[in-house]
Order: sequence, then C-alpha cells, then structure tokens
Amino acid sequence: MREARKIARSEGRRLQEASSEARMEAERKRLERLLAAALTAMGLEKLLRRIAAIARNISLNEWLRIVRSTLGVELDRSYYSPSFYEPVVTRWEAETRKKLNGYPAFLAAGIATAVLNARDPQRVLEIVDGRCLAVKRAMASTASSQTGTIHAGLLKLTQTDAGVNTYIWSTMQDSRVRDGHRALEGQECSWDDPPDTGTGNYHPGEEHNCRCTAIPVFDRDTLSLPVI
Ligand SMILES: [Zn+2]
Repeated sequence: MREARKIARSEGRRLQEASSEARMEAERKRLERLLAAALTAMGLEKLLRRIAAIARNISLNEWLRIVRSTLGVELDRSYYSPSFYEPVVTRWEAETRKKLNGYPAFLAAGIATAVLNARDPQRVLEIVDGRCLAVKRAMASTASSQTGTIHAGLLKLTQTDAGVNTYIWSTMQDSRVRDGHRALEGQECSWDDPPDTGTGNYHPGEEHNCRCTAIPVFDRDTLSLPVI
C-alpha cells in the first residue's frame, strides 16, 4: 500500500497539472493502470494462496479432531491433499480476486474527483492520503470477510465428501450472535438445503462475520471416511 500511496501522490500531481479534460481522462486511466500494477506487486496472489493454505490446515485439523473424538478413528491425513480442496479454493480465489481488483479503479476515480475539486497542491496530497487509507481499510475488511467464506466452503466440502448429509447448527452462544442464527442453535440442517437465517438461506460461516459452525451428524449408512 505504501507503493500505491507513492503512485497516487505523484500521479495526483500530474492529474492536477493536466491542461484539458481529455488529458485528465488519460491521466486518470494511467493512474488506474499503475495502481493495479502496484496491487499485483504487493503480492496479492501470494497472499491469497497463504490465506487458503492456513484455512485448509485449520479446517483439516478441526475435522480430524472431531472424527477422532466422536467416532474414535484416525483418518489418513494424506487423503486431504491440496488437490482435494482445489474446487473450493479456486472458486474462492477467483471471487476474492474479483472483489480486490475493483479497488485500483475506485481509488483512481476518487483521486481524479479530488483533484478536480481542490486546486491547492497540499490539499490534494491530503485527500490522496485519506483515500489511500480508506481503500486500505476497505481491502482489509474484504480480506477478513473472505477468510470466513473459505472456512465455510471447506467445512461443507469435507463433511459432504465423508458422506455427512446433515449437521447441527452451533453458535458461539454469546451476546454477539445474531437473532436469526440464535434461533438455529442446536437444529439439524441439511447440506443440500441451507436454512433460512432471516436474511436468506445460508450455511454456518457463509454470512459476513458469522462465527457459527456445523457439527457433523454421522450416519453409519452413508459414512465414507479415509480411515488409516
Ligand atoms: Zn452465525
């Protein structure tokens, strides 16, 4: 983000010095391109892969633990390879990339408007800094809510692969749990048919900042586990 800020500051100046509207538009496009390149250089792809790897690891450990404590069996860890998780991870990466990729254009447009409205160079720099900070916060919030959605996706994949068709909705049971989720506490839900949470049909963890989880209901008739 430091690099993006540097670009925004120097390019903001170029925008301010543009002599015509056509020139300004060209400068705005240039700024957008440079910001997009800076975002790539920030290691967005590496960051996505790292978040996915951490989420896979947490999800797998939790799964092995719950199977061990409920069924008393040890699962073959190697069955849950990166390629097992691939469908969920690829979809999640594409979705997150799409959300984060909109920010350079958003920042460039905001800076262009600021330059148009403030002719004082010092004021323009202040506005550029303010916009960079706002975008940085928005990106961090997007990244954090996306972390929740990957956990939800991995949970569903792991359980349905094992032949688990239903789960018990489990909340954190504290005052922060939203009403619609509190109403689902302890209820048996189907992976095929997400329950109505009051704002739509969702599984645990799919809604923004939801901390709920799904406790698998093991059915010996459908169960299929990579037992060692
Ligand atoms: Zn919840």
